[in-house]
Amino acid sequence: MTTRLKKVWALLFALYFLAGCGSYLPSRVPFVQPIQEDEEVKISREFRKEAKKRLKFVKNLEVERYVDKLGRRLLSVMGPQPFDYRYFVVEDSELNAFAVPGGSIYIYTGLLDRVRSTGELAAVMAHETIHVKGRHMARMSGPDPVSLLGILGAVLARGGAGAQAAGAVGQAIAVQRQIAYTRQLEMEADTLGVRYMAEAGYDPQAAVSFLKVLDQERVLNPVDIPPYLMDHPLSQERVANVELLIRSLKPNRPLVEEADPIKKIQTIIRLERYEADAVIAEQTKNLSQSPKNGAPAQLLGMAYSSKGMWPESRENFERAKALNPKAPGIDRDLGQLYTRIKEYRLAHEAFERAVSVEPKEPLNYLFLGDLCEQESNLSAALDAYLTAINLAPLWSEPLRRVGIVYGKMNRLGDAYDYLGRSDLLQDEDEKAIADFERALKVLGPSSPRGQLIKEEIQAIKARKR
Ligand SMILES: [Zn+2]
Repeated sequence: MTTRLKKVWALLFALYFLAGCGSYLPSRVPFVQPIQEDEEVKISREFRKEAKKRLKFVKNLEVERYVDKLGRRLLSVMGPQPFDYRYFVVEDSELNAFAVPGGSIYIYTGLLDRVRSTGELAAVMAHETIHVKGRHMARMSGPDPVSLLGILGAVLARGGAGAQAAGAVGQAIAVQRQIAYTRQLEMEADTLGVRYMAEAGYDPQAAVSFLKVLDQERVLNPVDIPPYLMDHPLSQERVANVELLIRSLKPNRPLVEEADPIKKIQTIIRLERYEADAVIAEQTKNLSQSPKNGAPAQLLGMAYSSKGMWPESRENFERAKALNPKAPGIDRDLGQLYTRIKEYRLAHEAFERAVSVEPKEPLNYLFLGDLCEQESNLSAALDAYLTAINLAPLWSEPLRRVGIVYGKMNRLGDAYDYLGRSDLLQDEDEKAIADFERALKVLGPSSPRGQLIKEEIQAIKARKR
């Protein structure tokens, strides 16, 4: 990476880190204007690497797939894209989300906790995606670059910038950022965002109801304004614009059909924070109040599972399945549980149902692969993981699993090749080079695969500079 690029991302990171959404980020810093397309891709990658060091992520496969699937559903109606979009869930109680030029989108658990439907999250993600797609950062004019560098310097001087220091500086920047393009670009992100979310099958009313969540937040908490509000000031104009737009949309668009998994995702996030006991208390109460409702039973099954209480988990998952056979991902939950307690036949049946309900959901194949590995059926595991890769080529996990299975099969060249590809998608360049070099040793540099791997290594090294 050149010194110039280093400066660019350092500046970007500090600003995003402080402020959330990228829409107000001024681009009239001397070295970023105008931003080239591949420059944005590089910035995105460097940002991701730095973010890995500074932010805490939710590392749960269901949660990762949930935001990825939502993001890609939105992208699927937006036409050809110049970027590989990546989605990350940050464990942080702030109500925030932001997009980095080049296609990395960060969603805070504070936002995920507060939305009341996947549609509301879709509204935020569509809005953020438009900032990236529309290259809003490159179109922004901003205050004097020296003052920004000054702010950055001050923040960095505080050594890692504690949340409070960052918040204070963030507020100072937010005031400066109420400038020329701001309203126009926000309006564009709102307008196109709502249109695309509707085209992707989400109820556009969710965009209005999310603005109301934000408004509530402002009323409840007028002093400690959430970062997302700092960047996306609520105005009557904004709400009116969205409402007007919704009325102009063609009615009767087909909506996303499957049951909304938002409650499940919110519960997984709580379980990742070790709140299983609280979840169990709440859902036991919910279930006793409405014993015919499958939702609390499913959430109870998840909570017991997280505590390793398999019989209780099984009882609740089976109850949820009986009460609501279409509960979100219930067959996948059962399949995982049965795998865990070695009820392999039941597990296969559950995954078969899961695949027939959601044939394009890579998680189904990933967990099926787990089951096959446990049964020591390595070739079946391999098939399952390869299917997951085909369905989600930018997802590192199935690539890693394939690497591990090839390792067990003693096909070390293939093993290191796949591990390297998985490293690369996680922005672990050094590890990727090391794994690719191991693969090269086994496969031989003049073999056709070896040639490709050699080129890959050169490409990674070239972009490091
Ligand atoms: Zn925005």
